[in-house]
Amino acid sequence: MSEPISCQCWELRSPGEALEPATREIPLPGADQVVVEVAGCGICHTDLGYIFDGVKPRHDLPLTLGHEIAGVVKQAGANYSDLAGKSVVVPAVIPCGSCELCKDDRGGICKSQIFPGCDVHGGFASHVLIPAAGLCTVDEDALTRSEVELADLAVLGDAVTTAYQAIVRSELREDDVAIFVGAGGVGSFGVQIASSFGAHVIALDIDDERLARCAEYGAHHTINVRDQEPKAIRKAIRGYVKENSLRDTRWKIYETSGAAAGQTLAFSLLTYGAVLGVVGYTMESVKVRLSNLMAFDAQAQGTWGCLPKHYPAVLDLVLSGKVKVKPFVQRMPMSKVNDAIGGLKDHTLSLRPVLIPDF
Ligand SMILES: [Zn+2]
Ligand SMILES: [Zn+2]
Repeated sequence: MSEPISCQCWELRSPGEALEPATREIPLPGADQVVVEVAGCGICHTDLGYIFDGVKPRHDLPLTLGHEIAGVVKQAGANYSDLAGKSVVVPAVIPCGSCELCKDDRGGICKSQIFPGCDVHGGFASHVLIPAAGLCTVDEDALTRSEVELADLAVLGDAVTTAYQAIVRSELREDDVAIFVGAGGVGSFGVQIASSFGAHVIALDIDDERLARCAEYGAHHTINVRDQEPKAIRKAIRGYVKENSLRDTRWKIYETSGAAAGQTLAFSLLTYGAVLGVVGYTMESVKVRLSNLMAFDAQAQGTWGCLPKHYPAVLDLVLSGKVKVKPFVQRMPMSKVNDAIGGLKDHTLSLRPVLIPDF
């Protein structure tokens, strides 16, 4: 009979302050729950939102943040005993699976969804207690054959899969023009996924280093848009599209910068029949001529996380090497969590940090 696990973690006690180490006993999992030993946990801008930007988690403080989790199931509830010992990726958004919205394939807006590090304690910890439904199991042989390790797969929890859902939802097709506004984090994975779909990918950013990395991994063309007007950028893209005999309609535009300037730019790139995927998040507002959607017979669509059903396909892309995660992540000991958060906040970290528990 297994005993409750004593979990070590880093928790947010009050907004704006450094995370503090703590120890907490994790109750034994219920019939539909598991306890996962964390192999790695990514840090996302949403975590920074809770700490610095007044975004309120649904769970009271103190709270352990972190929703990009990969690890090994240490304890499994009665209904999921087959998961014990399995390596898994934890979806950032875990829908209940049984409500009307979930049955209608809209688990992203399930009212009973669990978001680790917001609804329950998250992955900046040695262990997490989470619902078992929707966990993505990782085939050990495929993992061994691949160039990644389990900890690297933490970024599938949110960054890689969110890009995937936005791309699938936009109905990206072979030979489409796919434009990413923002080439870091989610954008850098989106570029590779879109490329694996056979699209012609253009990446826009204000950081040369990020653009160079995207050019190496999936982007056919990159433009540094710093200090450029949307009109000039649009003209440059149109010129490039014409020169290369690419489609000049139905562009798939993904706003992955989560910045007001990026959103304004993304909207200005609409073509006839375009789809604008709004993936990044900002508290700021932008001024746009909404009627362009009407005039261009175009659509704008949001996306919240990724449905668990898509995770195996994304995992395949990563394990087969079609989408690389290693060049885009930086492993750090979890004891450096506050340094990593600081580095993300002041933009001195250009790679996505994955925290490795070192308690
Ligand atoms: Zn996130
Ligand atoms: Zn539901």
